[in-house]
Amino acid sequence: MSQYSEEIERRRTFAIISHPDAGKTTLTEKLLLFGGAIHVAGAVKSNKIKKTATSDWMEIEKQRGISVATSVMAFDYSGHKINILDTPGHQDFAEDTFRTLTAVDSVIIVIDTAKGVEAQTRKLMEVCRMRKTPVIVFVNKMDRDGKDPFDLLDEIEEELHINVRPLSWPIDMGQRFRGVYNIYEQKLNLYTPSKQYVTENVEFKDINSSELENYIEPGQAEKLRSDIELIEGVYPEFDVDTYLKGDIAPVFFGSALNNFGVKELLDCFINIAPSPRPVSAVERVVDPEEEAFSGFIFKIHANMDPNHRSCIAFVKICSGRFERNANYKHVRFGKMMRFSSPTAFMAQKKEVVDEAFAGDIIGLPDTGNFKIGDTLTSGEELHFKGLPSFSPEMFKYIENADPMKAKQLNKGIEQLMDEGVAQLFTNQFNGRKIIGTVGQLQFEVIQYRLLHEYGAQCKWEPISLYKACWIESDNTAALENFKRRKAQYMAVDKEGRDVYLADSGYVLMMAQQDFPDIKFHFTSEF
Ligand code: GDP
Repeated sequence: MSQYSEEIERRRTFAIISHPDAGKTTLTEKLLLFGGAIHVAGAVKSNKIKKTATSDWMEIEKQRGISVATSVMAFDYSGHKINILDTPGHQDFAEDTFRTLTAVDSVIIVIDTAKGVEAQTRKLMEVCRMRKTPVIVFVNKMDRDGKDPFDLLDEIEEELHINVRPLSWPIDMGQRFRGVYNIYEQKLNLYTPSKQYVTENVEFKDINSSELENYIEPGQAEKLRSDIELIEGVYPEFDVDTYLKGDIAPVFFGSALNNFGVKELLDCFINIAPSPRPVSAVERVVDPEEEAFSGFIFKIHANMDPNHRSCIAFVKICSGRFERNANYKHVRFGKMMRFSSPTAFMAQKKEVVDEAFAGDIIGLPDTGNFKIGDTLTSGEELHFKGLPSFSPEMFKYIENADPMKAKQLNKGIEQLMDEGVAQLFTNQFNGRKIIGTVGQLQFEVIQYRLLHEYGAQCKWEPISLYKACWIESDNTAALENFKRRKAQYMAVDKEGRDVYLADSGYVLMMAQQDFPDIKFHFTSEF
């Protein structure tokens, strides 16, 4: 216990993730409405990038600019401090989202009842699974016809590889949707298709009571009873610890657009979702309640205005209390730094704060001192782990197009990579630089920024690669042999780690077969 325990324990820092269009923005907004952080619907801007804009990335950045303001939305609710971290919806920024997930203590996944589990959800869930992040599922758009809820739960279990446990259950759907039985609170939440904020709640400990028919049609009542019986028979009793370990995901049903099921989700969330959790550093595990401050940079947002080469570095506070104007150690530089204008994000606005606690996110104005993964502490030598790079999906050689500007180009590449815009691999065979991204857009971003911020010109040349794998082996001779045999395909990432560039799925499979002593990893941390 520390003097900050109370502050820290009331914090809930989480992200809402979904495939675009499932209702993430709508749900975020409704949570803010319930939290009293905003007062009108429509106040939260979607950071969704309009499809038409894919070829014009400046337009995209403009649209994405709003996402700085909405990067973190904090509000107080029922004695808790809630920090919602926004994640970009556009898949070309998936890497950003992955990193954001390293800064949260739990996650809410929104699923569209008609569409079920979609591609982006699957990918994001992989990261949650890897990190054992507790997740709650919100099945949205129950006012529309969708999949049978039992089928949907099976689909979630199968596709997301997680066990589920419904904590509410829908009564019909679409036009005939009547609400949910809230298993968690043992209440009947009745739905009226309007935008009202208050749901009619009826205590209902025993749904076998004939009272039920006073609220819903007999056919629906019968169905609800047999559904609940089935649920109790099939799904294990809900257990908070299993949820906290990331082994089971409670599921809620509702309609964010109609404010339905949102308050119930929030009420359960503040009860069961974890307060800031211990974070692993290379040296030791850091407990949030330690007195000394520590935190790490998980995101850097560059200012797109070329006249202001400033960025905001986002810090997740891992322990203790952060104070404005205090001296903190920038571990990589080994020097002390002071921050006179750290910002916090309260719903719609950004403001300078004097203090912040473990679990909070603060923004530090930066002119190039930080890179992703940097640690700040009260003085201790700590290096936080868990910010893996993932194998990119697209690769291109980057070449200098202006021989007079080679230095600028190299500096630009280095800084953009530190910001986490993309990944750099240097081929050890021919020394050529390869940039790996998750989407075409990032190549455009890099080219534009190199020119406008560094005065350097680059050109892209095609390279046909399937995946980048970080390799290791306990058997040094086998590792050396592999590197020799695959010399043309060996590269190092920007930290100097060995990376094997496989040019096809088949070649990778063969390599895995032929070199059993080598471990192939698709993320940089293992
Ligand atoms: P995001 O891409 O996940 O942020 O999705 P949005 O929140 O922008 O929602 C996508 C679309 O679905 C919007 O047109 C919303 O109005 C709509 N939507 C969100 N929630 C619901 C809901 O509960 N029912 C219905 N019918 N539409 C919804």
